[in-house]
Amino acid sequence: MKDVCPFGENGNWYKGNLHSHSNVSDGKLKPEESVDLYKSNGYSFLAFSEHEVFTNWSKFNTKDFLIIPAIERGIYPRSSKCFHIHGIQGSKAFRENSSKKCLEHMDRTIPPEFKGKETVQTVINELRDSGNLVMFNHPNWSFNELDDFVDLEGYFALEIFNYGCEVEERNGLSTVYWDSLLRRGKRVWGIATDDNHNSNKFGEAKPSWDSLGGWVCLKSKELTQDAIADALLEGRFYSSSGPEIYDYGVKNGKVFVKCSPVEKIYFITESHANSRMNSEGKTISSSTYEIIGRENYIRVECVDKYGKIAWTNPIFIE
Ligand SMILES: [Zn+2]
Ligand SMILES: [Zn+2]
Repeated sequence: MKDVCPFGENGNWYKGNLHSHSNVSDGKLKPEESVDLYKSNGYSFLAFSEHEVFTNWSKFNTKDFLIIPAIERGIYPRSSKCFHIHGIQGSKAFRENSSKKCLEHMDRTIPPEFKGKETVQTVINELRDSGNLVMFNHPNWSFNELDDFVDLEGYFALEIFNYGCEVEERNGLSTVYWDSLLRRGKRVWGIATDDNHNSNKFGEAKPSWDSLGGWVCLKSKELTQDAIADALLEGRFYSSSGPEIYDYGVKNGKVFVKCSPVEKIYFITESHANSRMNSEGKTISSSTYEIIGRENYIRVECVDKYGKIAWTNPIFIE
């Protein structure tokens, strides 16, 4: 097994939320209020993914903060089940290869009538063909079964953790679907987001109550739309609801991870994986896993004492 360096050799870390709503759709905050919230909490980028409205708020871009143009499209069969498909604007080179006209600021879409899985595939294709990287959103919250999306193609990532869904309904975690896809050889990255709407249906709360709980940290040489889109597509990032990951990869036949102090580090593969726990109340901040050679993929979860998690993307064993 060759050495693998998933984050790349050089670059800076940038933290961002790729899924959020403002009052342009069903969120509470104005776009500028959301920008202030995320900027003041150390984020470098934010995607507004309004329902059926593509937005490109580039007017909020500064040297150290970037808006990622995006949209969330929905498909609603006549049941509690739904499909939410996320378009994140790709790099200029990606968009130039698009077969359809790229979406522009305030372009609106209409949920199509559900006629089966092919309707979902059509929406994925439309988003991708109009210049977007496609993420399959919150399958747990959407009451999706694996069978609903296992055959779909053309999405680069699964939303593995949605903080808003977790806060409201305790169904924000979708890693079980991710492993099912990975076991079948699907190569999809895992992304944690907020999906913040900033209104609390349970009563009084700070506007940030469903914000700042799920994010990605990616490594990139610069903070530009092209560089961020490419880092996402290439998987040069990890997701988190708390812990930080400093390094991760394969060296001398072992998967290694270095992270902020946590209670447990899990190496997850198709077989019963090894885990590393703290002992006597101490924390750990690194671990390794020796590759047997029968794994198709290995990914890592670092879990702190509060149950907060950092998720690496999978390394695929060739
Ligand atoms: Zn959604
Ligand atoms: Zn959403």
